[in-house]
Amino acid sequence: LPKNHISHYDLNKLTNSPDALTKREEVLILTPMSKFLPGYWQNLNKLTYDHSLISLGFIFPRTDEGDDALKQLENALKESKSKGKLNFKKVTLLRQDSGSLESQLEKDRHAFKVQKERRSMMALARNSLVFTTLSPKTSWVLWLDADIVETPPTLIQDMAEHNKPVLSANVYQRYYDEETKKDSIRPYDYNNWAESEEGLKIAEGLADDEIIVEGYAEMATYRALMAHYFDASGDKNTEMELDGVGGGAVLVKADVHRDGAMFPSFPFYHLIETEGFAKMAKRLGYAVIGLPNYLVYHYNE
Ligand code: GDP
Ligand code: MN
Repeated sequence: LPKNHISHYDLNKLTNSPDALTKREEVLILTPMSKFLPGYWQNLNKLTYDHSLISLGFIFPRTDEGDDALKQLENALKESKSKGKLNFKKVTLLRQDSGSLESQLEKDRHAFKVQKERRSMMALARNSLVFTTLSPKTSWVLWLDADIVETPPTLIQDMAEHNKPVLSANVYQRYYDEETKKDSIRPYDYNNWAESEEGLKIAEGLADDEIIVEGYAEMATYRALMAHYFDASGDKNTEMELDGVGGGAVLVKADVHRDGAMFPSFPFYHLIETEGFAKMAKRLGYAVIGLPNYLVYHYNE
């Protein structure tokens, strides 16, 4: 037997607290990545949480696009390393063993009819990622999509301060407004929502294997979408209770995953992937909260 073959970890002593950085709590940032965007990597490197407390985990699809993204991230890692600037605790790169869609054009991947297949593949990818990278020392998991190109540098500290089991930032997008001839912002992610009577009624009428996906005219749920609750003059720390979350920027106490909350690839209360995850966390007794006035920005394709 090799020396030190036996490791003890007291999960009881593993904290996740509002002053995460002072307590030197470890954070695992998880990103499913079909495309490498320099903006994502630059933003990630600007996070001011101590990088020696951060581990990174990526999962790439087994497609040409995935090959390309992997190569580009490897190059970015090499470049940081050569400059002596690669100071994350650990970086894990995974290739998926499950399927992915070939076409990732925005209009194709957002078509209503492909949602169940696409989102269920994404769920499998997210599960592989979290179950292979979560360590006995992980206090927090930050889900950060590969196309989130701008966040406050204090993202982790700001979110941890709320001390919530599951906390989702509001995902917006920068764009040029042709009408006003000005740079502007608009809502992007509609997967952060609070359930409605109408949504529950729709769910009641569905067969066991049918799902509801938010943000489609095909299914008018009248749910309270966090994207619409942004108030530019409001308090950044305003919280709202949610029933569904997206994957853009979500901070999760690692205990929530350890207790078994994952991303259902099958209809779970007629929800899958990140929205199903929120439901599962709630069924496990955890609060799911959103920050309508705390914005992060999605790449504009
Ligand atoms: P959207 O923003 O809702 O349109 O969803 P995206 O297509 O951007 O996907 C969300 C996240 O998953 C992003 O970080 C993508 O890079 C990543 N992604 C998309 N498709 C796949 C896939 O098939 N496999 C993996 N591993 N990641 C993917
Ligand atoms: Mn995206």
